[in-house]
This record gives sequence, structure tokens and C-alpha cells, in this order.
Amino acid sequence: MGNLVSISDSSTLIGAQQPPTLHAPEIEAGVGCDFDSYLLVPDHALDDRIAAAKARLDRDVVILGHHYQRDEVIKFADFRGDSLKLSFQASQAEGRYIVFCGVHFMAESADILRREHQTVILPDLNAGCSMADMADIGQVEACWSELSLLDSRKIIPVTYMNSTAAIKAFTGEHGGSVCTSSNAAEVMKWAFESGEKVLFLPDEHLGRNTGYRMGIPLEQMIVWDPYQEFGGNTPEAIRTARIILWKGYCSVHQRFTPQQVERVRREHPGIRVIAHPECRFEVAQSADQIGSTEGIIKAIQSSPAGTEWAVGTEIHLVNRLSKELTNHRVISLDPSVCVCTTMFRITPQHLLWALENLGEGNVVNRISVDERTRHNARVALDRMLALR
Ligand code: SF4
Repeated sequence: MGNLVSISDSSTLIGAQQPPTLHAPEIEAGVGCDFDSYLLVPDHALDDRIAAAKARLDRDVVILGHHYQRDEVIKFADFRGDSLKLSFQASQAEGRYIVFCGVHFMAESADILRREHQTVILPDLNAGCSMADMADIGQVEACWSELSLLDSRKIIPVTYMNSTAAIKAFTGEHGGSVCTSSNAAEVMKWAFESGEKVLFLPDEHLGRNTGYRMGIPLEQMIVWDPYQEFGGNTPEAIRTARIILWKGYCSVHQRFTPQQVERVRREHPGIRVIAHPECRFEVAQSADQIGSTEGIIKAIQSSPAGTEWAVGTEIHLVNRLSKELTNHRVISLDPSVCVCTTMFRITPQHLLWALENLGEGNVVNRISVDERTRHNARVALDRMLALR
């Protein structure tokens, strides 16, 4: 099916592009051309053509740029933010077309929250998320059946926003909720009021960091490895656990280490370390502060001028903060480049291709979640929103 790599079971892709070929004709890329020909558009022409295509679409289009998006793309975004905030902003906007410069699960979320007349587009279908892909719906359903056989107590599933529409829908169907990295503790508290234990999907680290901050001992949290019988646990460990953590992680945030925290403190005395809660437990414990993407931005913005920060999150956001918040010194916790390689797949060429086609009424790379999944995922999202 073309170049699709991160497709949840519940969404279909309409107008999917074919993989680039090595024999693209040497013509000027234009409407009606497939994506391959856009690879030939010279860099110096891209900005003008994107701006012109966007201007022609005017209020018909709303472009969303996730905080981790590259500069050459995010500069065209009408809104910047995290995935939930962007999806809400798009659903309130006039635009018929929502072009999401993020990753696949984000475009699915926008499709779940969109209004009837809106259509969601992901400029490159290769832009997936390693963490979301680690929780396959079939594996999660098998885990749920095993847990139900072993434990009669009420389990509440909680899924992080960074999961496929199918997992959000599963959560909604089974009495659970979605959470974000900012409200995970609040949602977890609600889950413990509604049941006796929590199945936390798909990020092991966010689940553990949140549970520990709520006072749940590490021994009462077990990891469920979908490739092992009973998730790699004994029936007794499953019965006594309070949180069952799905064995998933973000390949970007898992790279940060406690050694990097020690090094940055040694080299920059007085520096403050802030890490995303998708980082490992040891990193979260050694940082001065934990913060979601929005939380990191606010913490740095509101700190006294001259404060020096080492940030444990994706490099595009760190570099942007470093450029924009000139009263502060902002560096990455990881001295090597720590990039979300899948989001990086969205290039100015993809954005141009999507916009110019829209200008001609051709919707390319549409993300469309089926109605049943959309409904159940919305139930899980609404449970979270009701806690606000
Ligand atoms: S940074 Fe991590 S969690 Fe976020 S989109 Fe990239 S791989 Fe997924």
C-alpha cells in the first residue's frame, strides 16, 4: 500500500502517494504532478510557492505545526502547540482543510475532534510515531483478556494522547480515559477513584513517573511486555500490582540519561535541568523539574532573566527556545542531536505538494478515522475533558 508505515487499524488513507522513484521527470512540479516531481523544486522557490498556495486557499486551510516540527515547515503554521491543543484550535477554525504538520496519531486526533465539514491531511504518510506504534490494538486486547482472567478487580485503562485512534477507542469502550503529559496525574487519580488498578498505555515512563509522583511505590507498578506470556509477569505480581505499564517508550526521550544530567551540572554550575515526563525514571528523578512541551516553554519563559536551562526534549523545540528566549540560555541535555526522525519527514516539499493540490480541489493524504472508532475515542477524550 504505497509508502505507509504508521497506519493504525482504524484509519484509512485516501489519495496515498506512491514511494519516490529514481526517474522523476525533469519538469517543473505543478498541480497534477505526483509528489516525486516536487523533489525537483529548488529550495529557493519553495518558500514563495508555499506562501502563494496558502494565500490562494486563504481561510479554507488551517496549517498546524507541532512544537517538534522543523523550522522550514513550522514557519507556515497558523498554530503551534502540542497535539491536543492544535486539534482543538483546528476544530474551532474556519478552515475546511486541516493540514497537520505533525505525526500520524496527531492527525487522527484532529480527525476525531474535527467538525463535520472539515478534512484532515498529513503531508507525509511516513510521519509516524514509534511510541504509538508500540501498542498494537490486537496485543492490547489480548492483554486485556489475560488480565481479566487473572484478576477480578476493576481495571481502568488510561492511554496517553500519543496513541493510535484504535487504542483511544479501546480505552473509551472499557470505561477509561485519555491523558496528556500535563494532566496524567489528575486522570490517574480519577482512574483510581473509578477502579482498583490502572492499565497505562503506551508509555511506560510517563506511567511510572506519574504513579511515583502520586506516591505509588515502584514495586506496585509492573511492566507488561506484549511479547511474553502474562506480559512477562507472574499471576501473583499481576494481582498485587496497582499500575500495569505497557512496555512502550518514545525513542527520542528515552535517549536522555542521568549521566547527561550529571555532566551538564558539572559543566554549567547553577544550571536548571528540566525534562519531559516521557524520559526514564532515573532522569526524571535527577532533573530539577519535569514538564510537558507546553510546561517546559512556560517554565523557561517565566524564569528570571539570565537563568540557564538544560532541556530534555526534542531538539527542534530546544533550538527554537534558545533562539526566541534571548533573555535565557537554553541548551539541550543531550550533546548529540536528539531529533524526532519521523516528524522530520515532513518537508517543505510535502507541505507545498499538499497545498497546491488542495488549491485544485485534490485532497492528498487524507486521514480518516472510521465512525465507530471515532465515537469511542471521543468518549475517552471527553472523560479527560470532564476533569478540567
Ligand atoms: S517525539 Fe517521541 S512520542 Fe513524540 S512523535 Fe516523536 S517518537 Fe512519537
